Amino acid sequence: MPLEILTIPCLSDNYAFLAHDAESGETALIDAPEAAPILAALASKGWRLTQVLLTHHHWDHVEGLSEILATHPAKVTGAEADAHRLPPLDATVREGDCVQIGAETGQVVDVSGHTVGHVAYHFPGSRALFTADSLMALGCGRVFEGAMPQMWESLSKLAVLPPETMVYSGHEYTQANGRFAETIDPDNPALQQRIREIAAAREAEMPTVPSTLELELATNPFLRARDPAIQAHLGMQGADPAEVFAEIRLRKDRF
Ligand code: ZN
Ligand code: FE
Repeated sequence: MPLEILTIPCLSDNYAFLAHDAESGETALIDAPEAAPILAALASKGWRLTQVLLTHHHWDHVEGLSEILATHPAKVTGAEADAHRLPPLDATVREGDCVQIGAETGQVVDVSGHTVGHVAYHFPGSRALFTADSLMALGCGRVFEGAMPQMWESLSKLAVLPPETMVYSGHEYTQANGRFAETIDPDNPALQQRIREIAAAREAEMPTVPSTLELELATNPFLRARDPAIQAHLGMQGADPAEVFAEIRLRKDRF
């Protein structure tokens, strides 16, 4: 049985996720932006929190943790490289390590770039990938701490996962990301269609997260640095994809 995954809007535009394994009764929280909506979701589902998987140290991903743990003690896991600035951890992980939710095994992927030590969690048995501020719906996190080639390398590790993988990213930034994506990839019909779907979803106050990796590969400019049309549009035909990615990311920072 795959994990049952709940998307929980938090703060103004963050998402947390609960991943529940019905067989064992284990429930993992992925990131803790805000306690109240997460506690409400646990209560309404009747799920018992057993562990928390943190993606990176930014306040909007950890702020609710201590309040949650006060009433819902759970094992907290985060990246070894980020441990000095994360809340206290019970377990540290690095690239290639495994985490377990009941019988479901997740792989830890180092996706440094937005921060150094940012990790994603991939659960192949449930086709679920928790990316927070690395790969985002129609975007990627701003490169604050890492180098541009490092972020490109991180995204490239995610890009080769099975296309049917669901991408559970950390923010509802998709509509604004779409306005930028159009300036990089204006002649992409799949992007134009996605932008229309995003507008309809937001009009109906529906989240645009999760998305599928297949859709991101077809429409997310940050995964498409190899695309000849994008390279031509940027005047970078035949350039190293890492350099094309860096140019797209710099344009987004100025957008
Ligand atoms: Zn962040
Ligand atoms: Fe964030």
